[in-house]
Amino acid sequence: MSEKSKISYYSKNVINCPVCGKEFKKEDLLSGGGRMNAGNLTDELHRLYIPTKKYGPIYPLIYPVVVCPTCLYSAYISDFETISPDSIFELKNKTELRKEEAKNLFPRYNFSKNRTIIEGILSYILAAICYDSIDSSHQPIYKQGLSCLRAAWLCNDYHLVEPNENFDYLRDVMYRKADFFYSQMVEAEKDGIEEYGTITHFGPDIDHNHGFDGALFLAGLLVYKHGQKDDKVKRLKSLHTAKITISRIVGMGKASKSKPSDFVESARELHSKIKDEINRLEENS
Ligand SMILES: [Zn+2]
Repeated sequence: MSEKSKISYYSKNVINCPVCGKEFKKEDLLSGGGRMNAGNLTDELHRLYIPTKKYGPIYPLIYPVVVCPTCLYSAYISDFETISPDSIFELKNKTELRKEEAKNLFPRYNFSKNRTIIEGILSYILAAICYDSIDSSHQPIYKQGLSCLRAAWLCNDYHLVEPNENFDYLRDVMYRKADFFYSQMVEAEKDGIEEYGTITHFGPDIDHNHGFDGALFLAGLLVYKHGQKDDKVKRLKSLHTAKITISRIVGMGKASKSKPSDFVESARELHSKIKDEINRLEENS
């Protein structure tokens, strides 16, 4: 690839994997020079990028998770080198299991080369697996939710390019997992199990930061769009919880800098859609 059409670079700083002790460099996206041609924001607050003639399709979301190419320990940069000795011990014990899961999903991944969308999807799946072994001071529940959501988005992006590779199936699995973790996150915040005051970027995507309200919005939206619908009693219960969650965003009423009016409007719309479905289900029971 010529220097001109390069889309990524490797950081000068060497990262030391706390799990296996190997050193490596992190790949990051070069953002200037018209590489990032921003398109629409989806209803799930995911930014789409329009491919350009010079650089082709760009997926900025494939870079944020740090993955050790040797042992596949994966986490966000703010956590990667600061996890506790107990977490390191557990992650070390699960190395072979982690490698096996990665190979089962994607037989030909390679974290020693420039990332493609495949390594991007896998990086989030590995992060979701690894945060299971990381203590609550690193907010693992929220980060597992975020990772599953982003994996679902990337699976969908890939499915649009390669519709015959069943990535729509993996996408739906990841959406269901994201729904599970986001609902757990709402509980974890309420019960004080995880503390979210120290997180500076909630995303959910990497451009706009919708703060904790954005995370609450996703918690409600994931239930509404991707939650299970077969069991009516359970559906009603989860919709009621989602309605309360969304009320926390719209309840304050006024828009502010961290709560732009179109975001509050989206939350209001979601709130009334959830209410409608609750009414429909209750009428038919
Ligand atoms: Zn490692």
